[in-house]
Amino acid sequence: MSLETLTELLTRGRFVALTGAGISTESGIPDYRGPTTRERARNPIQHRQFVESSAARQRYWARSVVGWPKMAAARPNAGHHALAELERRGHLSGVITQNVDGLHHAAGSRTVVELHGALARVRCLGCDTVEPRSEVQARLLQENPGFSPEDAAMAPDGDAELGGVDDFRVVDCRACGGVLKPDVVFFGGSVPRPVVDDAFALLDTADALLVVGSSLAVFSGYRFVRRARERNIPVALVNLGPTRADGEATLRVEGRAGEVLPALALALQP
Ligand code: NAD
Repeated sequence: MSLETLTELLTRGRFVALTGAGISTESGIPDYRGPTTRERARNPIQHRQFVESSAARQRYWARSVVGWPKMAAARPNAGHHALAELERRGHLSGVITQNVDGLHHAAGSRTVVELHGALARVRCLGCDTVEPRSEVQARLLQENPGFSPEDAAMAPDGDAELGGVDDFRVVDCRACGGVLKPDVVFFGGSVPRPVVDDAFALLDTADALLVVGSSLAVFSGYRFVRRARERNIPVALVNLGPTRADGEATLRVEGRAGEVLPALALALQP
């Protein structure tokens, strides 16, 4: 389908964007199910594992202390900026994102529902106190002065144990000494109801849904396509490769978010 058809569809009213990992690959953050990542072996941490096992938390934090600087340094790309611009101009009422990278806010988007939370925040499982990830990072580095990225790169997802990770010291909540968890929804965890309600409320104001860079394999994103169809509003997809909603979308544009969205913003220029 062409950009003209997409523009025609979105020009009729205000739309909401549902974004996934694919909008951030051009910022250097890998997705899960993209053309190059689909076959890659992955073993992301499960919610229960994190909550129940101190060894799993130790492995998680050891890996993430190395991964965080790259995430923190990522900058929004042309796709994020185009959505922020479309919101400023009144075409877009807001973004529902499955991403945890904060790049929509960084691009200047104002109405953003972060379905799966944000890695920039850490929350205490005991007292709910929130601490910026940057401060937790500083504390982790202070507690583990000798820890090297090589130790973490070798950190296993299974039960094998390596000296470097075994010795890694995890930090606790500054307020109550409780267990800290990144403020994101891990696999097997659930999106808090008020967040889902906010996302549905936003979608219910829209005349169309634009999905960008998501395979929609995860139900927490796919349910918004369902809702849009129940409301009889059009659903447009901008993606590289197949999605779960290919058979039910009004139209589908095969392309890079960082190219299609700026072109769309230009075409929707008054
Ligand atoms: P996904 O990995 O399942 O799907 C991403 C889709 O985007 C794929 O179909 C891929 O081919 C496509 N894609 C890749 N680059 C693209 C580009 N430049 N333009 C257009 N399309 C592109 O992602 P998902 O549906 O968001 O599900 C993954 C889950 O993992 C989400 O729940 C999310 O929270 C989490 N996740 C988040 C991040 C992040 O915050 N950036 C990164 C990886 C995973």
